[in-house]
Amino acid sequence: MSININYQEEFSSRHIAPNAADTAKMLKTIGVDSIDQLIDQTVPAQIRLKKPLNLPTPKSESDYLNTLKQTASKNRVFKSFIGQGYYDVLVPGVIQRNILENPGWYTQYTPYQAEIAQGRLQALLNFQTMVIDLTGMEIANASLLDEGTAAAEAMFMQYSLRKNQQANVFFVSEELFPQTIDILKTRSEPFGIELQIGDHRTAELTDNMFGAIVQYPAGDGTVYNYKDFAAKAHEKNIKLTVVADIMSLLLLTPPGEWGADIVVGTTQRFGVPMGFGGPHAAYFATKEEYKRSMPGRIIGVTIDSAGDYALRMALQTREQHIRRDKATSNICTAQALLAIMAGMYAVYHGPEGLKLIAERIHGLAILLAKSLEKLGYKQLNEAYFDTVKFDVGNLAGPIHGEALNNEMNLHYNGSVISIALDETTRVQDIETIVRFFAKVKGKTINDVDFEGLKSGIETVIPQDLQRTSAYLTHAIFNSHHSEHEMLRYIKALEAKDLSLTHSMIPLGSCTMKLNATTEMIPVTWAEFGKLHPFAPTDQVGGYMQVFNELNAWLSEITGFAAMSLQPNAGAQGEYAGLMVIRAYHQDRGDSHRNIALIPSSAHGTNPASAAMAGMKIVVVKCDENGNIDVADLKARAEQYKNELSCLMVTYPSTHGVFEESIIEICEIIHQNGGQVYMDGANMNAQVGLTSPATIGADVCHLNLHKTFCIPHGGGGPGMGPIGVAAHLVPYLPGHAVVDIDQGKSIHAVSAAPWGSASILLISHAYIAMMGGEGLTNATKYAILNANYIKSRLENHYPVLYTGSQGRCAHEMILDCRAFKNFGIEVVDIAKRLMDYGFHAPTVSFPVAGTVMVEPTESEPKHELDRFCDAMIAIRKEIEDVENGKSDKTDNPLKNAPHTSAVVTGNEWEHPYTRQKAAFPLPYVAAHKFWPSVGRVNDTYGDRTLICSCPPLSEYEFEEAEVTTPEYGT
Ligand SMILES: *Cc1c(COP(=O)(O)O)cnc(C)c1O
Repeated sequence: MSININYQEEFSSRHIAPNAADTAKMLKTIGVDSIDQLIDQTVPAQIRLKKPLNLPTPKSESDYLNTLKQTASKNRVFKSFIGQGYYDVLVPGVIQRNILENPGWYTQYTPYQAEIAQGRLQALLNFQTMVIDLTGMEIANASLLDEGTAAAEAMFMQYSLRKNQQANVFFVSEELFPQTIDILKTRSEPFGIELQIGDHRTAELTDNMFGAIVQYPAGDGTVYNYKDFAAKAHEKNIKLTVVADIMSLLLLTPPGEWGADIVVGTTQRFGVPMGFGGPHAAYFATKEEYKRSMPGRIIGVTIDSAGDYALRMALQTREQHIRRDKATSNICTAQALLAIMAGMYAVYHGPEGLKLIAERIHGLAILLAKSLEKLGYKQLNEAYFDTVKFDVGNLAGPIHGEALNNEMNLHYNGSVISIALDETTRVQDIETIVRFFAKVKGKTINDVDFEGLKSGIETVIPQDLQRTSAYLTHAIFNSHHSEHEMLRYIKALEAKDLSLTHSMIPLGSCTMKLNATTEMIPVTWAEFGKLHPFAPTDQVGGYMQVFNELNAWLSEITGFAAMSLQPNAGAQGEYAGLMVIRAYHQDRGDSHRNIALIPSSAHGTNPASAAMAGMKIVVVKCDENGNIDVADLKARAEQYKNELSCLMVTYPSTHGVFEESIIEICEIIHQNGGQVYMDGANMNAQVGLTSPATIGADVCHLNLHKTFCIPHGGGGPGMGPIGVAAHLVPYLPGHAVVDIDQGKSIHAVSAAPWGSASILLISHAYIAMMGGEGLTNATKYAILNANYIKSRLENHYPVLYTGSQGRCAHEMILDCRAFKNFGIEVVDIAKRLMDYGFHAPTVSFPVAGTVMVEPTESEPKHELDRFCDAMIAIRKEIEDVENGKSDKTDNPLKNAPHTSAVVTGNEWEHPYTRQKAAFPLPYVAAHKFWPSVGRVNDTYGDRTLICSCPPLSEYEFEEAEVTTPEYGT
């Protein structure tokens, strides 16, 4: 027996599920001899890559983690006192392990299918309630991407709501964090909004202003009383946005009590690691009257088919899927997982625990200020919460040196040093700081009565800014403080939610593939989690290496010259890419080029992003085969050849087809002076076979949370880096604090220079462990799995579009529109799938009345068969309605999903059996997933919007007719 002592377990065989025997069976069903034959029939020859991907040899899982540990050691974790919007935290262990590190939470999809998502919907409602209480506002959404972009969304909402259409000036306090001002610059430019940056105390408010924004506490730590400023603004019809630090609001009078119209900020310091910039959840709160103008997703209370309490996403008609370029924002993927963590942090600590934490932070800041004052340093902030500021004259250098010796990072600005404290700061840390501030003056801590100062600390917050109103009084925030109760609460919510831990989630366009455990492990390593995004460059070598490698690998995969890792989601990538195109045209003296051609089949974020970039949208038709109508495209491109900015095109198309005319399409755009933006959501069908550069695109974004394994987190986080051809590299986004300028960089699109840096590790791990061949095989198997489903289902459901040789790409659209003739809607199929233990495919995108199925390469044949069996059984149920065997309205489809309460209830009056309701196929019995509520009523919830935890005693549930609108992705 000869033994291979070099045997290495291949990660790709874990990621790509079908084995050789199953692959052979699937190929037979499809009717091809080999995968390569299938690929040749699917991907047009003229766009195939000529060479294999040039990526490093793949690593095994253990080798990857060992190598990454070495890379991680190049990050040096110093104690951070930098502040500036990022604070170290103590993540409660019960939350870290059972949410952040738990696939039952992080592999969930956005809760469009509310009946199997009540757990995360409740957790997000808790988040909204927390934000409403702490800010003193009336409504809040379920997270935005980061503080800077939340401020920009607020500016834009104020702009949209302005009464005086001539008003185009926005007052910006110079005391906002620099990264926030930077993003406001990016967002204001396309609309001709003029930023007036100044001191709120001396600013003159004028009639041409539509809004103003201040920060509370201000960027340098000062706590101002903005009450008079707010009143002055309102007199002039100027709306006021306040960027507020969530921790400080436990002690400070909330902005809602002194005149804010909108309050935004980050909830990072509620138990979410800094992660070198993210991911973190931003919050957005405003008044009830502005609810329809509010960006982002809102969770609302409604009733289910039994009239019981149920939750779902509210007011969805504001979103891009419906409103397209008139949407309130382009935000699709947000930060659900991190919002859930922050909400849970409040549940865990409760109002009293949180207050004690905030008081300790505040108290230690006072102790520090008093101690250093005793040493003769002058503290500059009159009132402050957690940040103190000193002008140290010519001692800045020596202090800086001492701080580094003590592995501490302070914030330096010339001779001014500021020190921001957080939840992790202890008395010993203050003592250390006092010692070295003493040392550089030739003194010692004995010159300060440190022990004496420690007792009798009184707040420095002025009386009229001390919070008196109660918060977090709801039972949810006052019940789960022992670890057992907390653990069981988290688990009880998790049990209501279907995730990838139960079954495949075949959402077309969303690529719900494996999020491998090894990819996730480094995210919570301290070397990556505990770094501040503005930490000195010589402390972050590990991250720089990861970014450089990822940049090089993604450039190889896309065929582009360089990437920007800054955008925090796909739609942010679209916006960043379009702004880069805009800057390119402007730089060439073509600032009049502002028309974006967008095919009618495009995802709603495309027109929404184009609108944000100040572009005019011209829709291009699709032909009856679902392809872009090239003649129409050519006509539009020529008609607008002087104003053409770009084409936005998804490839393969949102119809799941590799359009053969793509090269010609890109050429037409270039000939008419435009640039080609490729929406990379469908990159999972391209990697290793073709590339955006090969088809002729100039820019594309990648949804790392689709193609490159970042989990969806129940609605975020995600990452949407963009790749660009060489001529666009100089315009890639810069940053106000960290120098990443490319020469002609546009202003920042995210608060942190590398966006949600810590989750870039996931994609890094995926590529490193798959290698070029593994990634290419993943693409091939994604196409194989899709075509296998197509072969099994096409005799039961018409497949809407295919390529010239009858193949689909990595996804396919199943047409359900004909069932309407006998009363069955596509939503009935989606809900009935829950009874079979599945999450529905994408409903009504890109074609209303259809479902779009995308299995990914990570699903084994066995799972694909279970899904196909369910779909075929459902087709049979539809047939029964069609030929009168089932009642038209009282049938398993219309009544789906069936809860355990309904199925086991004393009464059962339906014409079909309970078994048929809940166990329609034998495999379901082995592993039943029960939807926790019956079909939710959307109209009821939208009629009376409740977006915080209602006191159940006061809430009356009345019977109402169930009407469920259709969903997009
Ligand atoms: C998912 C998706 C987007 C939006 O990406 P987010 O990361 O959710 O912002 C855009 N276009 C298409 C085709 C998509 O599938």
